Amino acid sequence: MLKIVQVGEAVLRQRARELSPAEIESAEIQNLIAAMKETMYAAPGVGLAAPQIGESLQLAVIEDRAKYHQLLSPRQLQERERVPLPFQVVINPKLTVLEAGPATFFEGCLSFSGFVGAVPRALAVRVECLNEHAEAIVIEARGWHARILQHEIDHLHGHVCIDRMLLRTLMTSENYARYWKDVPVAETLQSLQP
Ligand code: ZN
Repeated sequence: MLKIVQVGEAVLRQRARELSPAEIESAEIQNLIAAMKETMYAAPGVGLAAPQIGESLQLAVIEDRAKYHQLLSPRQLQERERVPLPFQVVINPKLTVLEAGPATFFEGCLSFSGFVGAVPRALAVRVECLNEHAEAIVIEARGWHARILQHEIDHLHGHVCIDRMLLRTLMTSENYARYWKDVPVAETLQSLQP
């Protein structure tokens, strides 16, 4: 299992370098992808970017498993446009916003452990990238899939979700679960004003 670094490590604030097709096919990177997948499952998380395990490379893995959805109501899943998403590897991505939205929901980060906050994100995006076989692919995503892609691709450019967070909503995960998880985000924002 790989160690996930926390905010304050410089690697999280650097622009990661791109990988060549030959590097992607190397045993070293293939092993890294497998280890990142296992680390993401163990965390557990819906995405993990290479800078989060201390590697300044433009590589991220994502997967949103159905079992993670059991904590949300059908209505919450629908509002978030959150559906199960198979394992996906994103390398050297170029992201284009298709629908700016924004959609604003609470999210957390494995590198900012123990805290969550509301983050406005584009509703739909297109990502041109390479996959784990160094093949060029285009991903068009909406809702939670689009949110995960934006979050992970931000990591590859040295951004962490707190950079985009509505800071008054920053709170411990524990307090989010205790007070706010079933409150509509607009109402939460309102309640947290002075
Ligand atoms: Zn993160």
